[in-house]
Amino acid sequence: MSKIERAEVFVASPGRNFVTLRLTTSDGVTGLGDATLNGRELAVASYLRDHVVPLLVDRDPANIEDIWQYLYRGAYWRRGPVTMTAVAAVDTALWDIKGKVAGLPVYQLLGGRSRDGVLVYSHASGTDTASLLDDVARFRDLGYKAIRAQAAVPDAGASYGVRKGTVYEPAAHSLPDEQPWSTEAYLDFAPTYLEAVRDRFGFGFHLLHDVHHRLTPIEAARFGKRVEDCRLFWMEDPTPAENQEAFRLIRQHTTTPVAVGETLSSIWDVQHLITEQLIDYVRTTVVHAGGITHLRRIFDLAALYQVRTGSHGATDLSPVTLAAAVHVDTAVPNFGIQEYMPHVAETMEVFRSEVRFEDGMLHAGDEPGLGVEYDEKAAERFPYEPRYLPVARRLDGSVHDW
Ligand SMILES: [Mg+2]
Repeated sequence: MSKIERAEVFVASPGRNFVTLRLTTSDGVTGLGDATLNGRELAVASYLRDHVVPLLVDRDPANIEDIWQYLYRGAYWRRGPVTMTAVAAVDTALWDIKGKVAGLPVYQLLGGRSRDGVLVYSHASGTDTASLLDDVARFRDLGYKAIRAQAAVPDAGASYGVRKGTVYEPAAHSLPDEQPWSTEAYLDFAPTYLEAVRDRFGFGFHLLHDVHHRLTPIEAARFGKRVEDCRLFWMEDPTPAENQEAFRLIRQHTTTPVAVGETLSSIWDVQHLITEQLIDYVRTTVVHAGGITHLRRIFDLAALYQVRTGSHGATDLSPVTLAAAVHVDTAVPNFGIQEYMPHVAETMEVFRSEVRFEDGMLHAGDEPGLGVEYDEKAAERFPYEPRYLPVARRLDGSVHDW
């Protein structure tokens, strides 16, 4: 019997912080798992090093489901982003190993190919409507068939999703950046730039928008209704997701499709959203929702209720997660869309990946396993840097949802 012989946790910052788990079996097969939780990276690294690694050594790496159950139920303390990210890292690495042992790409182990490629959306942004329109044009020229549009709200500080320079990276060094927020200004302005995008470019591509948890349910209902003529692919995270019942109110008022779930970590966190058909797309990811094993369980539940997938895929997830996501997306019947931001060059010096972008889609490649390698020597050149995501404050100084 093959055994897990070694479990190593790497923390490095090639462009941004990533936590990576590498398992090595007694047969010399390695598997990679992403354990990155943006702004709380070391909590997951400690969870793995101090509490999980001692449980893995000498286990049979073939028993993915049993190891998942052992780590989830065996801890007694369940769910939550730190726990589920740690479990995900182990699970993802075990699928990578199983693929390599079988000589098959992971999507084959999940039932094989359901589609030729994985539709992705990119992030266009602007400091005003004119620069947003230029950015949308640029992404259309790059071949994207789906584009998320965000522009800075005038007089409301730094709005969500607006890039400064060539790279979007909200996590700041040292203490969190504090950014002012005005819901009133956003509700007045955001529909105008979404309409401007449709006026300029028409309806021949998918248009998405991320509200980023900043509205109350009735505000979100008003927003969704206001932009119905823009025919959005989705409005994302219209209201904080931990209150699943809030989405019923939004649903009663608008036909704009709703996507939610990037901060949610288990099937229990999306149960009512899915079974009561309060959303159209579930955005849970491999890395924050317990790995391929648990994400597949969420997606299968979603399929029963005509809810499609739309996994989070910003660059705060490592290329290991992106590859795992593309394998899952390739296989599941109810795939919707995959978020995609290309990683910076420093990241790709450390992670070599088979995932390829072509004509608006991602392709997983046919290497056995996930098709990603980790260069720990290259990673040594990029030590961990403490970073925090921003905090939003209303104009009266009180804390708002970022
Ligand atoms: Mg988002």
